[in-house]
Amino acid sequence: MGPGPSEIHPRALQALAQPAIGHLDPAFVDLMDEVKDLLRYVFQTENRLTFPVSGPGSAAMETCFTNMVEAGDKVVIARNGVFGGRMTEMATRLSADVVTIDDEWGQPVDPQKLEAALESNPDTKIVGFVHAETSTGALSDASKLAEIAQRFGCLTIVDTVTSLTGSPLYVDDWGLDAVYSGAQKCLSSVAGIAPLTISDRAVEKINQRQTPVSTWFHDIGLIDGYWSESSSRSYHHTAPVNSIFALAESLRLVKQEGLERSWERHRKISQTLLTGLSQLNLEMMVEDASIRLPQLSVVKVPEGIDEAMVRARLLQEYDIEIGPGLGPLAGQVWRIGLMGYSCRSENVERLLGVLKEVLSDLPEVSSSSG
Ligand SMILES: *Cc1c(COP(=O)(O)O)cnc(C)c1O
Repeated sequence: MGPGPSEIHPRALQALAQPAIGHLDPAFVDLMDEVKDLLRYVFQTENRLTFPVSGPGSAAMETCFTNMVEAGDKVVIARNGVFGGRMTEMATRLSADVVTIDDEWGQPVDPQKLEAALESNPDTKIVGFVHAETSTGALSDASKLAEIAQRFGCLTIVDTVTSLTGSPLYVDDWGLDAVYSGAQKCLSSVAGIAPLTISDRAVEKINQRQTPVSTWFHDIGLIDGYWSESSSRSYHHTAPVNSIFALAESLRLVKQEGLERSWERHRKISQTLLTGLSQLNLEMMVEDASIRLPQLSVVKVPEGIDEAMVRARLLQEYDIEIGPGLGPLAGQVWRIGLMGYSCRSENVERLLGVLKEVLSDLPEVSSSSG
């Protein structure tokens, strides 16, 4: 119940244990087509270029940046947590002309700041932002940010690693361009395989590059030669066949449940968690419910409590993992994930019961009144 990996669904685990087949086996080629269709469903897109990247979410992030950005391109990146910082790092390493807009951790990306940045940087080509910031628990308005980017003629790179299937996401309706995710968050699948979808507009920019993509492994043009229905399915790298078995099963589970129902389940069950936490006098980092992630609750550590000791006891005595704070929030918050298969009432009840017990018999580290 941390910020990912979530618990892998038993059916995905079973799928993972199937005997391997060749990555060009006709049966596997059929599965690739099914996976692409299911990915289009969860992303709510018709994008032709939709496939899972062989690697974790960060590899899909890097795929977007290395293909979309050329040295000297002006890129605006919104930073309101760890992952906007990672985007900035990637764009900088690609020698982009990077402009950052910053929001306080726990706040969503401010659309007005984006608008102002694009007004003063009219030559911007790409805007990058994170839809659901896993380091702070805040959800940004991806639709609004993309609308502003488009108005200024920019393409968007959007991180949906934590939002995909946990919060409403409409890639086509919102006009998002290069959108990536991960499998080990709300998809409850195996880590190391990362959904990606690229709009036709973004494909056009990639096709017009003056310089080849700087990494061979992440070159979408080459990878498309393996994943595209219309290609001769040429070998690029050995696909992680068993991970794709597991991903396919996880995607089928989402399709079975229905996307809207999955969003609703995350919302409802997280509400039970919040109610229980407030009964324990615990406060949330993100106060405004409209921008608070259901799949990841960031809870303030009460004054005088050794947060690491609480996590260690949960893990050692009760087999429950919750996450610590990252960066400036280290030591100040816990991050409780309710992602995908982990998002179940029985988990919430168990955690609340155990937290109550652990918090009540913890030694106070400071001599505050509480
Ligand atoms: C987890 C996460 C990532 C990185 O995914 P990895 O699979 O760990 O590389 C990127 N962005 C967000 C918002 C995340 O939550």
